Amino acid sequence: MTDKNQPDQPSICHVALPIPGSDYYDYLTGGHHSDALQPGYRVEVPFGNGKRVGIISHLSSQTDVPQEKLKHINEVLDSEPLFSAGVLTLLFRAAAYYHHPLGEVLMTALPVPLRIGRAVDSAYQEYWQSNDAGKNAIQADLGRANKQWQLLQYLNQHQQGCSVSELARHQMNWRVLMQELAKKKLVKKIMHLPIPENRYNPEQPWPVLNEEQATAVDKIDAQGHQFSVNLLDGITGSGKTEVYLRLIQEQLSADKQVLILVPEIGLTPQLYLRIASRFNVSVAVLHSGLNDNERLNAWQAARLGESKVILGTRSAVFTPLLNPGLIIIDEEHDSSFKQIEGFRYNARDMAIMRAQIENTPVVLGSATPSLESVQNANAGHYQQLRLKQRAGDAVEPDYQLVDLRAQKLHGSLSGTLVAAMKETLAAGQQVMLYINRRGFAPAMLCHDCGAIFNCPRCSANTTFHAHKRTLRCHHCGFQQAAPKQCNSCNSTELITAGAGTEQIETLVNELFPDYKTVRIDRDSMSRKNKLQQTLHAVANNEYQIIIGTQLLAKGHDFHQLTLVGMIDVDQGLFSVDFRAPERMAQQITQVGGRSGRGKLRGKVIIQTHQPEHPLFTILLGEGIQAFNQVELSQRAEANFPPHGYLAMLRSSAKQQAQAEKFLHQVAELLAAHQQEILIAGPVPAPMEKKAERFRQQLLLQSTDRSVLHKLLKHYLPQIRALESGKRVRWSIDVDPIDLA
Ligand code: ADP
Ligand code: ZN
Ligand code: ZN
Repeated sequence: MTDKNQPDQPSICHVALPIPGSDYYDYLTGGHHSDALQPGYRVEVPFGNGKRVGIISHLSSQTDVPQEKLKHINEVLDSEPLFSAGVLTLLFRAAAYYHHPLGEVLMTALPVPLRIGRAVDSAYQEYWQSNDAGKNAIQADLGRANKQWQLLQYLNQHQQGCSVSELARHQMNWRVLMQELAKKKLVKKIMHLPIPENRYNPEQPWPVLNEEQATAVDKIDAQGHQFSVNLLDGITGSGKTEVYLRLIQEQLSADKQVLILVPEIGLTPQLYLRIASRFNVSVAVLHSGLNDNERLNAWQAARLGESKVILGTRSAVFTPLLNPGLIIIDEEHDSSFKQIEGFRYNARDMAIMRAQIENTPVVLGSATPSLESVQNANAGHYQQLRLKQRAGDAVEPDYQLVDLRAQKLHGSLSGTLVAAMKETLAAGQQVMLYINRRGFAPAMLCHDCGAIFNCPRCSANTTFHAHKRTLRCHHCGFQQAAPKQCNSCNSTELITAGAGTEQIETLVNELFPDYKTVRIDRDSMSRKNKLQQTLHAVANNEYQIIIGTQLLAKGHDFHQLTLVGMIDVDQGLFSVDFRAPERMAQQITQVGGRSGRGKLRGKVIIQTHQPEHPLFTILLGEGIQAFNQVELSQRAEANFPPHGYLAMLRSSAKQQAQAEKFLHQVAELLAAHQQEILIAGPVPAPMEKKAERFRQQLLLQSTDRSVLHKLLKHYLPQIRALESGKRVRWSIDVDPIDLA
C-alpha cells in the first residue's frame, strides 16, 4: 500500500515513450524500490495490448490517471543510468525547446539496440588474457604441451587481450587449448568493448602554428575550462583543423574527452586519420554508415570514457561522455546539422546548449560562418577568432565572373571556361566543375509543344538520366523509362533542358577526350566506400577533371587542383527562401576555396547571366565579411533570423482541403496574439505536392524568442487535440532552416 502522505516514497513513475501525443505516461512503481528507478533508466511497461520500452523521466506521488487505470511497470532494464547527467538535462531542454515529445527525443539519443531493450553491454566481445601466473610461467610448467605453451606466449605478447577472431587466425583449435590453460589458471576470459585499430603515427611532425593560429589557441585557452563559445572564422585552408588538433591535445593532457561534429559522413575518414595518427588514444567514430552493433560500441566507449576523442555527425551531439572537456563543430554553417524530419533539432545549437550545461568551451569553425553566428559574435556573445591567411604556402584564389550573355557556349560551358580548362590541363593540373543540382536538373520536354514531363506524384519535373534512359523524380523516387513520344501532341521531338552532372560529363568527354574525367554525385557515389576511393584517386591525380555537386564543396584537399568552374550559381539569386543569398555566398566561397590548396595559385570562374547583381559585386569586390553585414541589415529589416525567430507548422494530406483546414484552425487559435507574433499562412509549400500528398505551411515569426515559445507551449495541447489534425500529418519545426 502506498501512503500518499509520505512524499519521500514516490509511487508513480513517469515514463517517456516514443509515442506522439504526450511527454510521458504514468505507471505504478509496484514492487520496485525507488532507488532502482532513476531518471534515465529504461523500463519495460505495458501499453495497449502490448509492451513498450520507455525511459524514466521522473518519479512523484502525483498522477492525473484514475487509480483503477494505473498499471505496474513490468521490468527495469538498467541498473545504471544510460545518459550522463549533462546529456539527460540537455535532452529534457531539447524536448521543451523543439516542442517535441520527450520519449521520441530520448530515444533518438540512444543507439538502436538499446531502444528495443537490449542490455547495454550486449555488444561486448570475448577476449582472452594471460594472468600473472601465465605471464610468469615457464615452458617446463606445461610439460610437453607445446601448443598450449605457444598460445600462452602469443597471449603474453598481446597484453591488452586477444579477440576470438584473432585467436582463430592464430591457431585453429585454440579453444581446446585455451580451456586447458584456463584449468591451469594461467589465462582468463574478459568481456570487453572491441578495441579499435590504433592508427597512431608518432613519426609525423606537428607543424609550427603561424601567428594567427597561435593567437586563436591562446585566446580560446584564456577562457579556461568553462563555458565559452568561440567562433573560429578562418578561410578555407587557413589551418582551422590544425587549431582543433592543438586544442584536443590540451584536453587530452587534462584527461578530458573531446567531441567533434562534422556535417557529413564523407568528411569523417580524413579527419579521423588526422586525429588518430596524431594522438595515441582511442578515437570513436559515430555516423550513419555504421551497423547497429558498431554504433553501440562506439557510444559505449564514449560513455565509459574509453574513447578520448569522439568524431561524429549530427546525432553524435547526444553521445554521453564520462569526462567532457571540449566540443568542436566543424563547418558550423552547414544546414546538414539540422534534422529535417521527426525531432527537428539543430546539432550546432544543441552543442552550444550542451557546452553550457556541462560547463565546457565550444568551438565553431567555418570559412563561411552562418549569419546567426556572425551576429552572435558581433553582439559579443561569442569570441570571434580570425584566420585570414592560408596556412603553409598557399594563397587565395582569383575570382573571375563570366558574363554568359556575351559568350559563345559549348553546351553549358562558356568559351572562357573551356579556354581556361585547356590551359590548366596542359600545365598538368586539375579542374573541378561544380554544379548546384539542388534547384536545377535536366528536364525532358517536347520541342514542338513545350510540354514538360512532370512527376505524377509531385509538383515537380522529373529528371532525365541519360545513362539508363530513365526519368526519375528526386523528391519521391518515382521512376519510368524515358518516353519516345509527347503525351500531349504525340511529337517524337523530345529534348532535354538544363544542366546536370551527367550532361556536363558527356560534354566534357567530347571536348577533352585526352583527359580522365570523374563525376562525383549521389548517384555515382552511392556504393559504400566508393566516394572515399574516388577522392583518393583524385588526390593521386588519376583523374584530371572532376565534375560534382555539393558533395565536393567542402573539406577535401587536392593539391593539383587549380581551376574551379561554377556552372550555374544564378538560381541562388531568385529563390523564395530568404537564406538563398547566404547559401550562394557560402557555396562560392567554399567551392572556390577548393582551388589552389597546394603551392599553386588557384583560379575560380563563375558563370552568370547577372554579372552586375549586387550580391556578386559585394561578395567578390569587398569580400564575405562585407556581404554578411549587408545581408544582416536586410534580415533586420524583415525581422528574419538572426534578428527574429521562426517556427513553421507543416501539414500534409491526400486532400489539399484537409491539410489546409488543420493549419487554418491552428492560425485561428493563435489569432488573438497577432500583436505579439506574425502569423503567415496557411499557404501551399513551395513544392505543393510531394509523393501524392498536398503540403501546406504556417509560418510564425516573432522578434522575441521567449514570446514565440510561450505561445507554442501554451497552445500545443489544444493544437494536438484538434480533430482536423487527426486526418493529416503535421509537425512543428522550430528554427526552420529550409522554408521549402
Ligand atoms: P582548414 O581546416 O582551415 O581548411 P587545415 O588545417 O586543413 O585548414 O590546413 C590546410 C593545410 O595546411 C593542411 O595541409 C595543413 O596540414 C597545413 N597547415 C595547417 N597549419 C599549418 C602550419 N601552421 N604550417 C604549415 N602547414 C600548415
Ligand atoms: Zn508535345
Ligand atoms: Zn515525385
